[in-house]
Amino acid sequence: MSDVPKSHPRYLSLTLRDRIVSGVEQGITSIHGLIAHGRGEAFDYLIEEKTQPFALAAIRAAASMLCLAEHPVISVNGNVAALVPEHLIELGQLLKAPLEINIFHTEAGRERKIQDYLLKHGASEVLMPTTEAQLSYIDSNRRFVHPDGILKADVVFVPLEDGDRCEALRKMGKEVVTVDLNPMSRTAKQASVTIVDNVVRALPLLCKEIKVISVDSVTQTIITQYSNEAVLQEALQHISRGVDG
Ligand code: ATP
Ligand code: MG
Repeated sequence: MSDVPKSHPRYLSLTLRDRIVSGVEQGITSIHGLIAHGRGEAFDYLIEEKTQPFALAAIRAAASMLCLAEHPVISVNGNVAALVPEHLIELGQLLKAPLEINIFHTEAGRERKIQDYLLKHGASEVLMPTTEAQLSYIDSNRRFVHPDGILKADVVFVPLEDGDRCEALRKMGKEVVTVDLNPMSRTAKQASVTIVDNVVRALPLLCKEIKVISVDSVTQTIITQYSNEAVLQEALQHISRGVDG
């Protein structure tokens, strides 16, 4: 870790950079993940690095959708594994859902390294992609999935998703819950529920919400009344108000 004093005005942001860099050094995060993180930082700046009301509304809908799911699965890539391993595991335990590794860049052994990293942090079940099960509508390496995981899932939680796979999952009839700081990304637009927030703030809040939610008719109503389009519009309006000064 670099020697950032706690008094530094950008301490938190610099700590997150350290986590991602450490992920790359440990071989769990792709070097390309640094670029994705940088794009996230820029959008985080535009929402004042705070969880805004549009994110809270999405977190509420996400909690309802995940609690009502019959077979929820949590898809993990190298960035989220480096940033929030404990909360991914907590979410899996709360939902009784497996974690499944799914990455775009397959540098040698990285999938196995992410799996080991999560197991070391206390995960009980971490599924790996297989060649037996493939998603339709997608050509990249991310089409390979586990037959008892993403292939079977009715709701997939995929923070920091790539637009191609989000589209493929939706075409296959699955609901997608994502966390993406960019409200204009293809993922943000195509997901069923998009939490426009930093994954390091959104995941603890999502876990908290799931702990207090009681699954009843209200839960279904929250989903029915939720509009992802409206939430993305609110995020964009918030950003433009800031840019206009
Ligand atoms: P898409 O494929 O959906 O159009 P993209 O190609 O622009 O998106 P990707 O590299 O596929 O981007 O995905 C990374 C996404 O994750 C970016 O939209 C980025 O803003 C977002 N992101 C990066 N770091 C974080 C973070 N810590 N929390 C939430 N979102 C993040
Ligand atoms: Mg992409």
